[in-house]
Amino acid sequence: MADVHNWQLNRQMKYQYEESRPDKQVSAVFDINKCIACQTCTMACKTTWTSGKGQEYMFWNSVETKPWGSYPMGWDVRILDKLGPQNWDKTTDLATYSGKTIFEKAPPGERVEGWRPDDMDWAYPNRGEDETNEAIDDTKYHLTIPHAIWNFYFARICMHCTYPACLAACPRKAIYKRKEDGIVLIDQERCRGYRECVRACPYKRAMYNHVTRTSEKCIFCYPAVEEGQWPRCMRNCIGKIRIVGYVNKPEDSVPDNPIDFLVHEKKIALPILPQLGLEPNIYYIPPIHSDLKFSRQMFGPGADDAVQTYKDITNGNEPELRAVLLLCVSTDKILGRFELQGNEAVGFDVSDTEVVRVPLKEPVIVRDFYDPVHDVYRHNIT
Ligand code: SF4
Ligand code: SF4
Repeated sequence: MADVHNWQLNRQMKYQYEESRPDKQVSAVFDINKCIACQTCTMACKTTWTSGKGQEYMFWNSVETKPWGSYPMGWDVRILDKLGPQNWDKTTDLATYSGKTIFEKAPPGERVEGWRPDDMDWAYPNRGEDETNEAIDDTKYHLTIPHAIWNFYFARICMHCTYPACLAACPRKAIYKRKEDGIVLIDQERCRGYRECVRACPYKRAMYNHVTRTSEKCIFCYPAVEEGQWPRCMRNCIGKIRIVGYVNKPEDSVPDNPIDFLVHEKKIALPILPQLGLEPNIYYIPPIHSDLKFSRQMFGPGADDAVQTYKDITNGNEPELRAVLLLCVSTDKILGRFELQGNEAVGFDVSDTEVVRVPLKEPVIVRDFYDPVHDVYRHNIT
């Protein structure tokens, strides 16, 4: 085991291999508050990559309803139970994780603390859909605002982790992290289907194909990324909850890089279950209406501040943040940087060519109810 630095834990930790970061790291920010659970992302991915034999229950992108939904069954509670106490030391400016990671908790002879789902655990991807955290008492629901009843939709893909547990656990060294963009892939020629990656990945994003007898996982649509385009699930997102880009370490943060801005500058986008120790590279803007205790467990100790910052956008206190959130969902090109120009937000691709420009406030145009040119009446005049 090597000593590596995990900035999400704010400390050194043990990992199977030496620290070796890619030249660039692909990343995405998902705004949970905007997801409507339409599953368009799920289907966009499924029809592109997993419509073959042996992939019937395989969803590289899935959307579950929290707190009860989970695909595969119990993926989060089962590993959290195994991990033991997960405390954060908040005495320093940055919280430091004082519990154990799944690498540090590994039993003797194992590289990672994990568990392997049964076949049936993968068979109900929509289990718990639209169920709230407690039964709805109609009176209470309407009279108590903010109310105690909540749920949220949780879209998940592979996190293309900086310290992938799948890669650490593979005895065949069939899993690799690309130097050019940090995408984690399984070499289908080398894989022998031992399923150590399925057991090790705490997010359960490595999946076994009984027909090919190999493990498979999300490839972040790398052919699209190589062309500067977003992956399929991101491009097709109806709720426009997703922003694609590249993330740096906090000490190398570039403030006009949209992802760095959201993750490091504004700290509004947080990793999922950072205490596991993988330094996942998909970030989430936590839900503003759910129980903060649940959000802290799911997204770490930054959840309270992230929720407050998000609320400040609607209070008009965060114009730059509002600009980035509007701009980055108005294109399917990967942005390298953004700029505010008067009333407009402008986005540039990684070669610094302008590719998108949006007004911070949409103009409202009111048309006449009657249109004499076409001799028609309009139902919608704004
Ligand atoms: S989320 Fe799982 S499958 Fe994806 S890179 Fe991390 S450990 Fe591997
Ligand atoms: S397409 Fe977007 S809005 Fe619809 S379920 Fe997927 S992430 Fe949520």
